[in-house]
Amino acid sequence: MSKRDYYDILGVSKSASADEMKKAYRKMAIKYHPDKNPDNKEAEEKFKEAAEAYEVLSDPQKKSRYDQFGHAGMSGSAGFGGGGGGMSMDDIFSHFGDIFGGAFGGGFSSGGFGSSGRRQRVNRGSNLRVKVKLRLSEIANGVEKKIKLKKYVPCGACHGSGAANGSGKSTCATCNGHGQVRQVTNTFLGQMQTTSTCPTCNGEGEIITSKCTVCHGNGIVKSDEIVSIKIPAGVAEGMQLSVSGKGNAAARGGVPGDLLVLIEEEPHPDLVRDENNLLYDLYINFADAALGTSVEVPTIDSKARIKIAPGTQGGKVLRLKGKGIPDVNGYGRGDILVNVNIWTPKSLSKDEEALLEKLRHSPNFRPAPTAKDRSYFDRMREFFS
Ligand SMILES: [Zn+2]
Ligand SMILES: [Zn+2]
Repeated sequence: MSKRDYYDILGVSKSASADEMKKAYRKMAIKYHPDKNPDNKEAEEKFKEAAEAYEVLSDPQKKSRYDQFGHAGMSGSAGFGGGGGGMSMDDIFSHFGDIFGGAFGGGFSSGGFGSSGRRQRVNRGSNLRVKVKLRLSEIANGVEKKIKLKKYVPCGACHGSGAANGSGKSTCATCNGHGQVRQVTNTFLGQMQTTSTCPTCNGEGEIITSKCTVCHGNGIVKSDEIVSIKIPAGVAEGMQLSVSGKGNAAARGGVPGDLLVLIEEEPHPDLVRDENNLLYDLYINFADAALGTSVEVPTIDSKARIKIAPGTQGGKVLRLKGKGIPDVNGYGRGDILVNVNIWTPKSLSKDEEALLEKLRHSPNFRPAPTAKDRSYFDRMREFFS
């Protein structure tokens, strides 16, 4: 299919001014506008043809290339719709919609092109952030915390509507209730149409005729509220829980924000947390290590008694299975790891010194580690695995 000359399509001469071309295009666009010619394929083709011609001739660079090379100079250079130079209806409306906007009552609703519909913005309340400090037992068992918050709540006087008692709302005159306004800006492609949130109604599409005096039309007021938060077992320092809908109320009946709860851990006096395990450094004396004994170690909520076998080496790690922190995702529970340290006396009485002198060269006191006693490095490897 050979293309018609762009000047012929618009019915203008090569020397026509930009204004003359715009007028000519507007005439064609109105004549063949899909709103005027429903289900008319031929009109649609003419409408597109005119848009393509105007797209080239209204652009000084493209026009000069077209004047030099004709249609051959245009291949691959059409701004929209790919190499073929065909513009879609949406392209045409978004780029040149302003040219014939006035002729069709401001909207292209019937054709389904370019009409933005009623796109009102829903107000959303802002998120609230709180820190919650938890003890280890609260972390291990999960806890329900009541927190006093200063936050925006729906205004009681107007039930959150922002409108004074009995008065209503009216459709925003600036955007006709659409919540958005169109703006035309000049770009190198020609005139571009953009939509933005209506400044009069903030995108809500309606305005309050008489504002509530308590909340000044906002529909929300600051108030204290006690919020109860369920904190699951196994949370950790730095985790953030999100409680949906417990943040600030939104202006005029929108969607409330979320409450974000930042977890902080209160350190335990004896136990140190390592992910879901708890570490405890136990000190026993040399006699207990050699003879064996039973000792008390702290657990999260109380104490546990553990046995020290005769001949226990310093650095042995004893494991209290399942006495650690439950996994926050429900994957089991950590342990308490008891690291055995042998306490060496820092000072000795004359009697103690004499006793130890006697034992110093005793055969059983000579270090003789076997594979069973394992090296420090082996234990460390197990510890960090
Ligand atoms: Zn109010
Ligand atoms: Zn508006």
